[in-house]
Amino acid sequence: MTKKEQLYEGKAKKVFTTEDPSLLIVSYKDDATAFNGLKKGTIAGKGIINNRMSNALMRLLEKKGIPTHYVEELSDRDTLVKRVSIVPLEVIVRNIAAGSFAKHYGVEEGKLLACPTIEFSYKNDALSDPLINDCHILALQIATEKELNDIKTYAFRINEELKKFWASCGVTLVDFKLEFGKLADGTIVLADEISPDTCRLWDSATKEKLDKDRFRRDLGGVEDAYHEIMKRLEEHISEA
Ligand code: UDP
Repeated sequence: MTKKEQLYEGKAKKVFTTEDPSLLIVSYKDDATAFNGLKKGTIAGKGIINNRMSNALMRLLEKKGIPTHYVEELSDRDTLVKRVSIVPLEVIVRNIAAGSFAKHYGVEEGKLLACPTIEFSYKNDALSDPLINDCHILALQIATEKELNDIKTYAFRINEELKKFWASCGVTLVDFKLEFGKLADGTIVLADEISPDTCRLWDSATKEKLDKDRFRRDLGGVEDAYHEIMKRLEEHISEA
C-alpha cells in the first residue's frame, strides 16, 4: 500500500490516503508540542519510537479483544490503519493523580487514586480542549449513549491491560489519553496512538518520568527517556 495524497497534518503525525478508500497511512514525525501548541520542539527519533510502541500496544490490545484501527506497520514511521471518523473527545484515564488533575483538585502529584477514573475533553483547539461531561456529550450529539458506553468500557479495559503490561516492565502507568473512531458501519474502535506522548509512565522503583513530561517541564534527558521506555517495552512485549 502506498501514500496517495496528504489528508491532514497534525502536531505529531501526517495522514495520507491510499489506493483503498477504507485504509489510511499514518506517518509519525519528531515534532513535539505542549500546552495546546504554545511550546514547540523536536525530539530526535520520537516518531520512530511512537510508531513502533503504539503499534505494539495496539497489537497487544487486539489480542485481548479490544478493537483498534491498527492494520500493519509499513516502516519505521509509517503505519496502515483503518479509516475512521474520529469521535472528537480526548478520553483520559487516570490511576495516579498528576498534571491537570492534581492541580484542579488540589491533590499531590503521585497520590494513588482509590479507583481508576475517567474524564473527557472536547477536542477543539480553538476552545483549548475544554473538559466536558457525559450529559454535555449527549446534549451536543458528540456521541450517542451506546457509543459513549462502548468508549468508557473499552477505556477501562485498556487501562487494565496496559497497567498490567507496563508493571511487567517495571513501569507505573500513571495516566493516559485515548481517542476513539467510528468505522463506516458505526463500530467504535481505538484510534490515534498510545505512546510516551500520550501516557505518563514512571519507573516503578525510582518514579523517574519516562514520557513527554520531560519535554513539557524542561527536565532534560527527553530522548534518553523515550529510548529507555521503548527498550523496556521490547524486552517484555513478547511475553504479554
Ligand atoms: N494528554 C495528551 N494530550 C493532551 C492532553 C493530555 O496526550 O492534549 C495526556 C497526557 O500525556 C497525560 C494525560 O493525558 O498522560 C493526562 O493529562 P492532563 O490532563 O494531566 O494534562 P496535562 O497536565 O498534560 O496538561
